Amino acid sequence: MENTAIYPGSFDPITLGHADIVERATRLFDHVIIAVAAKPAKGTVFSLEQRIDICSKSLAHLPNISIEGFDNLLVDYASNKKAAVIIRGLRAISDFEYEFQLAGMNRKLAPEIETLFLMPAEKYAYLSSSLVREVSALGGDISEFVHHSAMAALSGKPL
Ligand code: ADP
Repeated sequence: MENTAIYPGSFDPITLGHADIVERATRLFDHVIIAVAAKPAKGTVFSLEQRIDICSKSLAHLPNISIEGFDNLLVDYASNKKAAVIIRGLRAISDFEYEFQLAGMNRKLAPEIETLFLMPAEKYAYLSSSLVREVSALGGDISEFVHHSAMAALSGKPL
């Protein structure tokens, strides 16, 4: 049976830090689904369609992945996809508290699904979508942080 993992997130937009996590996950699983949250609580700058489109272009070099939007409970979505693992990225201690809560809640809701944390390469440890949006809006160079499709989408976006 195929070993599938789900990597959920807002991906607003996907950064090279997210892509680093996806690459690591593809070496561990037969198939990785990048699950783009339709309406995350914190809101998004890009529409779901734009976020999926930028993910597709940024991850086009990876064979064993698919990219989908989802708007239901994550553990239900994972069960429907027959995925036993949820991947999350851990950058620094600051991520830990939120990720700990999320993993705990998901375990309570669906004990059969494991959350697996992966660390990105050190050079991406300080990278976040919100910081990239801010640097871009203020005219900074973001070419080392995102795929060019995200750069194009971000150009001209106000803060
Ligand atoms: P969410 O709104 O679900 O936190 P994000 O798109 O912000 O969605 O992040 C999705 C996951 O990727 C989270 O686990 C987050 O910690 C992780 N992540 C975000 N940026 C990076 C990065 N630069 N390196 C590694 N993991 C990251």
